[in-house]
Amino acid sequence: MITKIDHIGIAVHSLEAATAYYENALGLSCHGTEEVASQQVRTAFFEAGEVHIELLEPTSNESPIAKFLEKKGEGIHHIAFGTDDIAGQLDKAKGQDVRLIHEVPFEGAADKLVAFLHPKSTYGVLTEFCMPKGEN
Ligand code: ZN
Repeated sequence: MITKIDHIGIAVHSLEAATAYYENALGLSCHGTEEVASQQVRTAFFEAGEVHIELLEPTSNESPIAKFLEKKGEGIHHIAFGTDDIAGQLDKAKGQDVRLIHEVPFEGAADKLVAFLHPKSTYGVLTEFCMPKGEN
């Protein structure tokens, strides 16, 4: 079951510059940065009520975020739904002929298992499922 919108992922060229905006102009505070080697990104998390903002900066030109920035520029990259059953959500989507980017969840930022659905199947929104590790 999907339980909430967990976070919104935003692609940026510079984590430092974008962090300054979120902290100074919006008054949110950064509650952690992390490098996710598997995705070749550095992330910074902010809390806005129940929903988190995840800033994503590429650490290499091969990073999916680098490719996104090249094609589309900075902006909203994905929406992440929190779920209590990530495998079940993937099965459900697959059963409806939704194209999965990841058939098997992998370790994302913030100690979560994550998997993505292809934006071609989701009306243009790169869609992430995420679940705290150890929940399933
Ligand atoms: Zn995410």
